[in-house]
Amino acid sequence: MLSSLPKLPMGHLFVLSGPAGGGKTTLVDRLTKEFPYVKKNVSYTTRPIRPGEVQGVDYHFVSKDVFLEMVKRDDFLETVSLFGHLYGTSKKAILGELEKGFHLILVIDVEGAHKVRELLGAPLIFVSPPSLETLKKRLSGRGSEKGKSMDQRLQRAVFEMEQGENHYDYLFVNDELEVAYEIFKSILVAELHKRTPWIETNTDL
Ligand code: ADP
Ligand code: 5GP
Repeated sequence: MLSSLPKLPMGHLFVLSGPAGGGKTTLVDRLTKEFPYVKKNVSYTTRPIRPGEVQGVDYHFVSKDVFLEMVKRDDFLETVSLFGHLYGTSKKAILGELEKGFHLILVIDVEGAHKVRELLGAPLIFVSPPSLETLKKRLSGRGSEKGKSMDQRLQRAVFEMEQGENHYDYLFVNDELEVAYEIFKSILVAELHKRTPWIETNTDL
């Protein structure tokens, strides 16, 4: 199966979105373990670090001042304000990794996803929970969100799922983890084998 996700001279960019608790981290962690040349991009955020999260691995956790300084320097490809915190994708980080041949997955929200597609033409993949009820259970099970933060994320989930259904290139449901992982991997396999349009590769034209 290793050869089904080819290492290419220039890496490809993918966007994965889905409501908090939908299984994005679980799927991406598994993929990056199986394929060392696939990486999750590490975003910057002003959100406080959660128990179990690691600085520089889950996010670059920075203060609001540092984040705004980066905005001023035009360091970000895109930023979003969600649940009272700022999140952003560093331009330099992604270009550096793609040039080294790493395939990069941006795990970002639906607003950021549209910007990345517009700017870089990356395919948009959406992972949905089987139901809002299941989503709530998974979020509670993870123990990361309480009270207001949980309510905000569930409210946002409805909007995100509507966006996923109507505006993404790929959509799948994470019910049985094994099945969801195989679908996720198949989408990447297909994208990495997509041919460049003939007209672009024919230099005689
Ligand atoms: P996200 O990154 O989208 O916020 P996570 O990957 O952290 O979501 O998943 C949320 C919780 O749900 C985690 O505790 C994870 O172990 C669990 N989970 C993920 N996928 C499944 C699944 N298919 N079945 C049951 N639990 C799952
Ligand atoms: P969480 O706080 O649960 O880690 O993330 C909240 C939301 O922010 C998730 O939907 C996550 O995908 C999104 N997110 C994380 N980093 C970025 C980013 O750099 N840009 C955008 N647009 N969204 C992000």
